[in-house]
Amino acid sequence: MCEACPTLLDKLIRAGLLIETGVDGLYGRSGEFERIVDGFDRLVSRLGQGDGAEVVRFPPGMNRALFEKSGYLKSFPQLAGTVHAFSGDDRRHAALVAHLEAGEDWSGDQKMTDVVLTPAACYPLYPTVARRGPLPADGLVFDLNSYCFRHEPSREPTRMQMFRMREYVRIGAPDQVVAFRAMWLERGKKMIETLRLPCHVDLANDPFFGRAGRVMASSQRDLGLKFELLVPVNSDENPTACLSFNYHQEHFGALWGIRTASGETAHTACVGFGMERVTIALLKHHGLDIAAWPREVRDALAL
Ligand code: AMP
Ligand code: ZN
Repeated sequence: MCEACPTLLDKLIRAGLLIETGVDGLYGRSGEFERIVDGFDRLVSRLGQGDGAEVVRFPPGMNRALFEKSGYLKSFPQLAGTVHAFSGDDRRHAALVAHLEAGEDWSGDQKMTDVVLTPAACYPLYPTVARRGPLPADGLVFDLNSYCFRHEPSREPTRMQMFRMREYVRIGAPDQVVAFRAMWLERGKKMIETLRLPCHVDLANDPFFGRAGRVMASSQRDLGLKFELLVPVNSDENPTACLSFNYHQEHFGALWGIRTASGETAHTACVGFGMERVTIALLKHHGLDIAAWPREVRDALAL
């Protein structure tokens, strides 16, 4: 740490808001930090409350077989995290302990379990909805919140390896889904403006892997499938995506066999709220002391 020129991460850690673990992108959170997260969570709920969303909470790990089918490994192998566990006998256990004590690689008897870390809150939802059978005529709206994992270690506090993503997911006919995303683009922008954060919305693409990924990224942009609401946090040149608005067309509907009431393949869209990113954006712009934040910001968050 540079004493004279602390980074935003240094300041958050010094103030006790984030707690270092020794791994970049993996932090503890203080009670004050969580108060902001909770306040933002309430604000999101208030804005979405008229939409009849069904609340569903999954753990931060998902079924590996479903994850494999989801296509995530085709698009983002570099970000995925899998859960392994020891699979040996007494003899192999002794070897493990010996490797550990010698500071050697001890992973030889670690086997993949049936669990992988959830990469985005909505991934476990689609196969669950597919199992229910055809959608009702109005389609469905879901309210999700999950810790997510992405292997992207960074010293930027807004790029964590484990972070929370709140989401609303719309599943239905194309017009229902497109209207939902358009509504949230408006709402999301108003919400962030209420929090007195500078922001703008822009077309975006996901970090698809490799050469084939470049084609996917440019087609995602050309088709206008992903928008992000960006707030300058670490720098003005590279503002941070705090909310994202994704239209998957019939990708997940076709993959999982989700049908509308009239038997068509369902379309899906989701709006994602980066809980830590919004919290850190608030701390950056309004200061590390919540009590000194503008009154209307504290009111909006009921802080
Ligand atoms: P995405 O699926 O990439 O659009 O992510 C949804 C939301 O989660 C984004 O709008 C961010 O606010 C948040 N997010 C994505 N990646 C990270 C990360 N590495 N650390 C913290 N928040 C993230
Ligand atoms: Zn999603």
